[in-house]
Amino acid sequence: MIVVASANGRVGIQTAIDILKSGGTAIEAVEAATRLVEDNLQDHTVGRNGYPNILGDLELDASIMNGRTLESGAVAAMKNVPAAITVARKVMDKLPHALLAGEGAERFAAEMGLARDEQMVSPEIEAIRKNLLTAGGMSAEKIAKLQTDIELWDWVKMATDPERTYGTVNFIAQDKNGDIASAVSTSGWAWKYPGRVGDSPIIGAGNYADNRYGAAACTGMGEMAIRACTAHSLVFYMKMGQSVTEAAQRVMEDLRDLSGPYIAVMNLVAIDKDGNPAGFTSKQGRTFIYQTEDMESCVEQDRTYVDIPSRWTKA
Ligand code: ASP
Repeated sequence: MIVVASANGRVGIQTAIDILKSGGTAIEAVEAATRLVEDNLQDHTVGRNGYPNILGDLELDASIMNGRTLESGAVAAMKNVPAAITVARKVMDKLPHALLAGEGAERFAAEMGLARDEQMVSPEIEAIRKNLLTAGGMSAEKIAKLQTDIELWDWVKMATDPERTYGTVNFIAQDKNGDIASAVSTSGWAWKYPGRVGDSPIIGAGNYADNRYGAAACTGMGEMAIRACTAHSLVFYMKMGQSVTEAAQRVMEDLRDLSGPYIAVMNLVAIDKDGNPAGFTSKQGRTFIYQTEDMESCVEQDRTYVDIPSRWTKA
């Protein structure tokens, strides 16, 4: 049994391993652990108190996948419901669909009895957004009209600084039956264009699990993982016989080989079918965590670094 996560999953990993140790499933473990990160007010990249879009609206993306059945559920651009991963799981368990977006996701969350919260962004985060707009040259009068009267496309350049804008949580677990599950939740790219959806709720891009080979999940610039189908590719390379580290190296190289412009930061965590973990990054110094059933606490390990320089030229 093992749980692997991005470093910001530290607040949830012990809960996940405890669930596995008491006989719970991998799906239960990754959902419960992700909920703890979604509720962590110190984490501004997932759930409550996440960085909102350019209008100041928090739009959450999340997905969950069952590696035994290849069932998945996801929500995208969902407002006002903090427990995004649980809505994603309910999509998987209750609906004939795999992905709900926007108002439909909110409505479904209400039908499932999940709490709404229309104040998920703190005044501090709201002040950061307004300061960024002001620093970019927008007048207070224009900021007041942003919801309806201002063209936003040029202002989302606020969202092109990867130092400021990225973060997501990844959890992958393997339970005592050998079943694998993966969960990804995020508030997405900070200050994004309204309605922008990243890789996190896109099965195959930011999340993929298949008991027969392993699982992978991403954080970083979702546009890259969408273009390269990164999570599925990693699992596919394992299917083709590569080890988890060879497959992770290969998908990082696939990202580096993307042609055309992109803003680069990519991090991924993965396990193979035997529960061997791997963590990769295009940013030096990033770590990931993992814990097995016989460890008292999680280990934080450096990710393998692969250089992927940004090639961003759009005016
Ligand atoms: N991958 C997420 C997205 O593109 C954000 C991130 O991990 O920084 O929405």
